[in-house]
Amino acid sequence: MKVVVIGAGIAGLAAAWELVRTEGCEVTVLESERRAGGVIVTEHREGFIVEGGPDGFLAGEAELPALAAELGIGDRVVDQRARGTSLWTGTALTPVEDGRAAAVLGIEAKSAEVAAGFRSFAAGMSQPVVALSQRLAGVLKFTQGVAGLTRAGDRWRIAITGGSTHETDGIVLALPAYAAGRLLESVGVTHARALAEVTYLPSVTVSLAYRADQLGSPMSGAGFVVDPNIVGAQHAAPLPNHAPLHLRACTYASAKFPGRAPAGHVLLRAFLAPGDGDPANAAHTQLAAILGLRGEPLWSRAFHWPRGLPRYHAPHRDHLSEVRHRLTRLPPIAIAGAGYDGAGVSACVRSGREAGRLIARWMAR
Ligand SMILES: Cc1cc2nc3c(=O)[nH]c(=O)nc-3n(C[C@H](O)[C@H](O)[C@H](O)COP(=O)(O)OP(=O)(O)OC[C@H]3O[C@@H](n4cnc5c(N)ncnc54)[C@H](O)[C@@H]3O)c2cc1C
Repeated sequence: MKVVVIGAGIAGLAAAWELVRTEGCEVTVLESERRAGGVIVTEHREGFIVEGGPDGFLAGEAELPALAAELGIGDRVVDQRARGTSLWTGTALTPVEDGRAAAVLGIEAKSAEVAAGFRSFAAGMSQPVVALSQRLAGVLKFTQGVAGLTRAGDRWRIAITGGSTHETDGIVLALPAYAAGRLLESVGVTHARALAEVTYLPSVTVSLAYRADQLGSPMSGAGFVVDPNIVGAQHAAPLPNHAPLHLRACTYASAKFPGRAPAGHVLLRAFLAPGDGDPANAAHTQLAAILGLRGEPLWSRAFHWPRGLPRYHAPHRDHLSEVRHRLTRLPPIAIAGAGYDGAGVSACVRSGREAGRLIARWMAR
């Protein structure tokens, strides 16, 4: 039995991991980019570990430690070190409850869950992606953007950008909701149009490296969030040129998790609302004003997320169950990923694994 997983973000990789361990399943993962992981991007630079997308997962979530144990990297899970978040009010940093700080960043979690802290991996969030990619070597196919789906009797035909096609018995669609919605609509699942209503919020993250002696005062806690009422407001920070404040939050990356910066250095990660101008300059200027940084950063690295974290709207659950119900009338196909049952990395792992198991059960009938 052939199964194709479309999309090699963490949800697709988790689905494929579930399927390759199912007897009699021949699995292929088609990924449009040249790398796996989707929005999980970790770069190693001059002894720093730089996260472009997620930097951790909630400590109470079991999905990643369980997956890591299966992959033989269970001992690479690391706990959050510095705790506590501040609120930048426009004039001062004051302590704020963790749940409120998370809400400012669009993290949908209960206060108690956030209060338990976060965990990550010693080599960064891409560590499970790398381990999965190694286990899925030969299964993972890059630069294979899926352009269309058609039914071929009780099987599927998948068209790849550039002209080639794959025939398969089952599919796990592990794409962002808007992309999955388009493909499903084209095979007659008209309800899938509703998946386009999941909004993917744009954001920019900028990592900046400094020497520790450039800090005005020692960093306290794991970072700060900016009062949402002043994001974008004029004169919100004591900036020399009174530029609009696009900064939403800053993580003290080297204080939060171990090994993120070499000794004597700090790594900061700024979250910016998209706007005009150079985000690295904006991040440094605004952080310098808030944290009293002296001089220029050693280097900076910006990641642009035109469609970043998904946010669901009220009838999402109803739409989703209707779409899933319609999928049962087609040859085996399941959806997985951040657009459906939770946007966090752990929820995506769970969603991918469930989709993989669903297809395996379906095909075993
Ligand atoms: C900036 C940022 C910070 C975040 N921080 C956190 C955090 O700290 N903790 C946390 O738990 N979560 C965080 N998240 C959320 C979490 O990282 C994501 O929701 C999750 O990783 C998404 O995984 P996914 O597999 O569903 O989708 P994606 O990662 O989007 O993967 C989809 C894959 O499909 C591929 N693809 C797209 N179209 C096609 C096509 N036509 N054919 C083939 N392949 C295609 C893409 O290239 C991509 O590889 C963050 C997200 C962002 C953007």
